[in-house]
Amino acid sequence: MKQSQLFTKTRKEAPRDEESKNAQLLIRAGFIHKEMAGVYDLLPLGMKVIEKIKNIVREEMNAVGGHEFIMSSLQSKDTWTDTNRWDDDIVDVWFKSKLHAGGEIGFGWSHEEPITNMMKNHISSYKDLPVYVYQFQTKMRNELRAKSGIMRGREFLMKDMYSFSIDEKQHEDFYQKTIQAYNRCYNRFGIGDDTFVTFADGGAFTEFSHEFQTITEAGEDEIYINREKNIAINEEVYNPKTLKSLGVTEVELEKVKTAEVGNIFNFGTKKCEEMKLYFNNKDGKPTPVFLGSYGIGITRVMGVIAEKMSDENGLVWPESIAPFKVHLLTFGKNENVFREAENLYHDLKNAGIEVLFDDRDMGPGQKMNDADLIGIPYRMVVSERAAEHGGVEVKKRNSSDVEYISADRVISYLQEGGENK
Ligand code: ATP
Ligand code: MG
Repeated sequence: MKQSQLFTKTRKEAPRDEESKNAQLLIRAGFIHKEMAGVYDLLPLGMKVIEKIKNIVREEMNAVGGHEFIMSSLQSKDTWTDTNRWDDDIVDVWFKSKLHAGGEIGFGWSHEEPITNMMKNHISSYKDLPVYVYQFQTKMRNELRAKSGIMRGREFLMKDMYSFSIDEKQHEDFYQKTIQAYNRCYNRFGIGDDTFVTFADGGAFTEFSHEFQTITEAGEDEIYINREKNIAINEEVYNPKTLKSLGVTEVELEKVKTAEVGNIFNFGTKKCEEMKLYFNNKDGKPTPVFLGSYGIGITRVMGVIAEKMSDENGLVWPESIAPFKVHLLTFGKNENVFREAENLYHDLKNAGIEVLFDDRDMGPGQKMNDADLIGIPYRMVVSERAAEHGGVEVKKRNSSDVEYISADRVISYLQEGGENK
């Protein structure tokens, strides 16, 4: 893409009312626009990052047997009354509205009830199980505080997967497989080392649920971790009984601030009993289905990465989710130099390398500042000065080293993983 055609502008200052670092950086760099507290638009650069996060998650969910679908945002009151979750005193994040034709509707904050209801049309026999479905869906939640930028939106993108299993064993196998799939996702996003499978409150169904918590100062949660033993405990279940059952002692644990980037939950058979989702087992006996629910906060992951992977000059995207791999810059009025840059741009594109070409008529200082702010992994400069040094000036965003590579070696350099041999 040519930067002259990118309608978004970078800006020096974030809006005065924006308190969070992630949103400040993402707004300044032109990835998102703030509509109001907790509500953000995704601009083209932001969309690209979100699509990359989604694709990683999609690959991993498909790999465990998930089928992608998408459910509606508008939800029926009846679906939620069966389980007593329509009540605002029980679920405090509902957005609701009245229909002109009469009656109330809700804006989906979760989809456990609607999906269970829908599955009554598709599951009636043991032969129909298991079923694993997932979606990328915009959730709406009337969050009391929305001060963490895109890490806590009133409207945000979630991946939610649901498993419908025949018995506890089938459920448990899939649950464990999903923990591994989630770990692969966070590794691929580049936050695996700081993300912990965390014991958390299991609600009415099980002793524990499992959260995926990533260390960040911007997080709203606090957990206790032991890196060597790879144990993490949410403060909500941090008590002598939990410590004993996990075989750790207080002194071995370190308290850290984290953000919950994913959550998996076992509903047992309770929800399907409440909602009357039964299947006939081999003996023809009606049997309730085991339900599991598995969320990843897609927009929150982007926010956490912006928080963790940034410096005083701007964002520092990991390659796996960066909007482009290469930011190609050219300076000066020399037409030959510009043509050389344009040729490299086409060569990179033809080699299948995603490149943002700063072809704007602007000074080097401003272009370099923008490149740092936007945070694309490789900055490549085609200029008279670079040519004097023997080629294209290459600098990785996460390093201060500069190297010079002849234009005809740039593609193989990138294909070899950015090592100048
Ligand atoms: P939290 O405790 O942070 O409010 P939650 O327990 O309400 O999270 P879930 O209902 O399990 O979250 O949603 C699944 C995932 O969606 C969470 O793990 C989190 O990553 C993300 N998420 C939840 N609420 C928000 C929000 N308001 N904005 C952005 N992401 C969110
Ligand atoms: Mg919540």
